[in-house]
Amino acid sequence: MQISGKVKLPEGKRVAVNIGCDFDAASVWMGTFKKFSPAYMARGEFGAEVGTPRLLKLFEKYNIKASWCIPGHTVDTHTDICKEIVKLGHEVCHHGYAHEDPTNLSYEEEEKIMKMGLEALEKIDVKPRGYRSPAWDYSPNTLSILEKYGFSFDSSLMGNDLYPYRPRPVEVNVDKGNVFGSPSSIVEIPVSWFLDDFPTQEYVIGGGEGMRSTQEVFERWKSIFDYACDSEEGACFVLTTHPQTIGRAHTIQMLEQLIQYMESRDAWFATLGDIFDSYVENK
Ligand SMILES: [Zn+2]
Repeated sequence: MQISGKVKLPEGKRVAVNIGCDFDAASVWMGTFKKFSPAYMARGEFGAEVGTPRLLKLFEKYNIKASWCIPGHTVDTHTDICKEIVKLGHEVCHHGYAHEDPTNLSYEEEEKIMKMGLEALEKIDVKPRGYRSPAWDYSPNTLSILEKYGFSFDSSLMGNDLYPYRPRPVEVNVDKGNVFGSPSSIVEIPVSWFLDDFPTQEYVIGGGEGMRSTQEVFERWKSIFDYACDSEEGACFVLTTHPQTIGRAHTIQMLEQLIQYMESRDAWFATLGDIFDSYVENK
């Protein structure tokens, strides 16, 4: 059985809300989509130069500390804005170097990327407690690498939706049942493709829907948030945004509308680290 837990909420709060900003900039186009041409680099540039300052302003207005998952490549390309994020007191998590998919990497290759990401974050005085896989996926070695490098929590998997849990390695068998290993010392704070701005709001030529109405997305996010408030106890709502996506005029207004709604329903805006620190395992 999966080991999971609840979030111990501050007095008067109904649900923990984490706003994650996966600050991929150009790296998502390079690492995930294998696009290196000027238009794609410009989309990354927009995320760093326009989307990120807009988000920082919005978070300041509502006194929210967000969790910025920053690839080393973004730190090395847009160092000053990354320093500004740190200066404003936001959390920063490890997010690979150039948005690599670890699933088919060797142990050595994956460890090298882990070190490159850590070295880049060191340049902005960050020693991350948390990791988010750029592919929202693991290789068979990822969990043990995270344990080896002393991470407290991860936020890349989907074995639960509204509660943190302990991820387990899994032996995959197609001719008999899969076998789970022992629960990790790391706490998983789960993500969801349904709580991600990218699939519905980022247009990718030849794939992805990308141009759905923001109202439709607002209604879905609100519905998940309401369920977490009304049906669950000590739940967390983990939203993933991308500065180059949510930082556009129409999407940032939708995010502000959602923040106002969540505030009116006593959300506790927390970093992933805050959620980890408030995690109480079910007995
Ligand atoms: Zn990313």
